[in-house]
Formats: sequence, C-alpha cells, structure tokens
Amino acid sequence: MNHSPDIGDGTRAVRAGLPEPVKHEPTLPGPVFAAHFHLPGDPTGPYTYGRDENPTWTHLEQAISELEAPGGSVETVAFASGMAAISAVAFSQLRAGDAIVLPDDGYQALPLLRERLEAYGVEVRTAPTGGDAQLQVLAGARLLWIETPSNPGLDVCDIRRLVREAHAGGTLVAVDNTLATPLGQRPLELGADFSVASDTKGMTGHGDILLGHVTSGDPELAAGVRRWRKVVGAIPGPMEAWLAHRSLATLQLRIERQCANALVLARALAERDDVSGVRHPGLPGDPSHAVAARQMRRFGSVVSFVLPDRDKAERFLGELRLVEEATSFGGVRSTAERRGRWGGDAVPDGFIRFSVGAEDPEDLLADVLNALDTVRRQAGH
Ligand code: PLP
Repeated sequence: MNHSPDIGDGTRAVRAGLPEPVKHEPTLPGPVFAAHFHLPGDPTGPYTYGRDENPTWTHLEQAISELEAPGGSVETVAFASGMAAISAVAFSQLRAGDAIVLPDDGYQALPLLRERLEAYGVEVRTAPTGGDAQLQVLAGARLLWIETPSNPGLDVCDIRRLVREAHAGGTLVAVDNTLATPLGQRPLELGADFSVASDTKGMTGHGDILLGHVTSGDPELAAGVRRWRKVVGAIPGPMEAWLAHRSLATLQLRIERQCANALVLARALAERDDVSGVRHPGLPGDPSHAVAARQMRRFGSVVSFVLPDRDKAERFLGELRLVEEATSFGGVRSTAERRGRWGGDAVPDGFIRFSVGAEDPEDLLADVLNALDTVRRQAGH
C-alpha cells in the first residue's frame, strides 16, 4: 500500500513497505532464504526462482517506492549495490550508436562505466554538474545522467529545467539521488524517468550493507531494468534486503539529525580562516543553495572543505576522536577522508569529504574544532 502523500516523512518511513497485518505474523516478515520456491505445474509468478524475485525484496521495493513517490504509482528494483543499479539503467537503455551525457564531476566509478559503454559503441559526452552545463551537450542523446548534489564537490543542477529540455528532445533522465536520499529530494516528482541510488549510504545508514535501487514511474522502463537484473544477476541477498528495510524505519530520524548536524558543522567551518572552500547546499552563501532550495527538502549530510595541504589534512584526520577516517558517507557515525588519496577526483590535495553522523552536534563540533586547532598550533611551532 502506498500511503497518502499527506502523512509526514517520519510516519511514512516507519510504515513503508509493511504488508497488511496478519494475525500471529510479525510486522516486518523475516528474510526469506530461498533459491527456488514450490512451483508445481505451470511456472507462474510471483515467486519462482530466487534470481527473479524474492518476497523480502518485494517488501523493500515497496517501501522505497513509497519514499520515492508518496501516493504515486512507481516501481522499484533493488540491486546488490549502487553500481549495479547504475549499470542496470545504462545497459538496459543504451545501444550501440546511442549517446549518454554523464557528469564529469560525479562518483569516481563513472569513468569505469564510461569505458565500458564506449567499448560497446555508445557515445559518451560529459559536462560538469553546476550551472546546468549538460544543456550544451544534450542534443540527440538517449540518456542524461545527473548526480545532484554531486559527489564529492556538492554541486547541484536544476532537475526540473534539465528534464524539461531533455524530454523536449526525446532524452530520458536518470538522477543519482544517493547523496540526498528520497527524504532530501524526489527526482521522479521533479520529472525524472529514473531515480537511482546507492543504498549503501544514507538510505541504510549504518555502514554495514551494500545495496542499490532504481525507481521509475514508467512500467516499461522499470521492466527493462528488472530484466537486466535477471540477466546480470546483481541481486541483493535476502539478509541485506531485510536489514535495509529495517533501517528505513529510522530514515527520517537519521537523516533529519544528520542534515541538521551537517549544517551546524558547515556554518562553523565557514567561519574559520584555516579552512577554505566549504561546500554544503544548505549554506545560504553556497553556490548551489538557490537551486538546491527549490528542489531539495533536506540538504544532505555531507560537507566538503579544503585544508591548506595534504599534510594538514592528514593530521586533521588523525586528530579526530569521534570521526572515523573512512570512505563512503551517509552513516550514523561520522566519517571523513582526504578525497585526493584515491586519485580519481579533480580535487585539491587538502580536500576533505566529511560525512556527518548522528552524534550530538556539540560533541561533533568540539571534536572537529579541536582537531583543527591542534593542527593550527602544530603549524605555529
Ligand atoms: N553513486 C554515488 C553518488 C556514490 O557515492 C556511490 C558510492 O560511493 C555509488 C553511486 C556506488 O554505490 P555502491 O558503492 O553501493 O556500488
């Protein structure tokens, strides 16, 4: 059941995807471990073989659909990871001779996707996320891929505007909504054909699951994605799917707290003279803020900023006590990393991507400011 669009995000999150109550059954049925299902006679669905469907996925997919499009009629397909979800859209939609527009400042595995697509004869054009630069290279493309806010630069593009222009020219639009989560932004309501995410991040929020999803309001597009999952077999394990569904119940609590904390941190960092380039779409002075405020309901839990050099960035990370040095983002425990260490992003050596967790804001702030002060003191000697 897709609950009324009028209920609040918290109410929706705790109830999303729950089946109708059945006496003596649990509220959220446990994970179904099955490679195959009893299937006498003609092989009709819904549950035949474990690579095609699983009741635990069905509940999770229903939950994500409710979050992506409250009150709407959409379909979600769950995947083993965010990259599996991204690949499913790209490879189910594109043929040799088609063109796709990718961000040149998006998730650092997109160049790997580009390589593969080009090897299959797909033309790949790129554009930066900010300023709707995609419009310049859109003509005749089959698919426009948007990542907004972008990872790790946190630029934002105008989804409504890009969708309008893309659709006018027959181009489909997919939005990687990983950073925002459906509580921060609902791409399908802004007109996109696909909302795609790595649910490894804020959606599940505990840093212990890899998962992804694709949601579409177009049954044919969704069927293509579902068929791709069957072909490639990038299916979620039932345990992961169940854990993800369980985690969604706290989505609103986590995201609300983490987004609020992120804004507190971004504001404090923006005031320091030893920190530059603070980016967070929720900061009123941020280059992304005006567009973000029109299309986002929460601004995300990631803050990025630049310390003067690699050494200071590494020492800052080493001084943090409540923040783990780790990649990924969106979890309840704050993490941070010097993004340049991977070598794939066009960022300065001292660039920090900070994923803000659900700690008490005063503790988190004290930890970060103390680490910055310590680095500053050391530099003074
Ligand atoms: N999209 C974005 C924006 C990401 O940041 C990531 C991972 O960091 C992915 C997709 C890929 O997700 P996964 O690691 O679950 O495959």
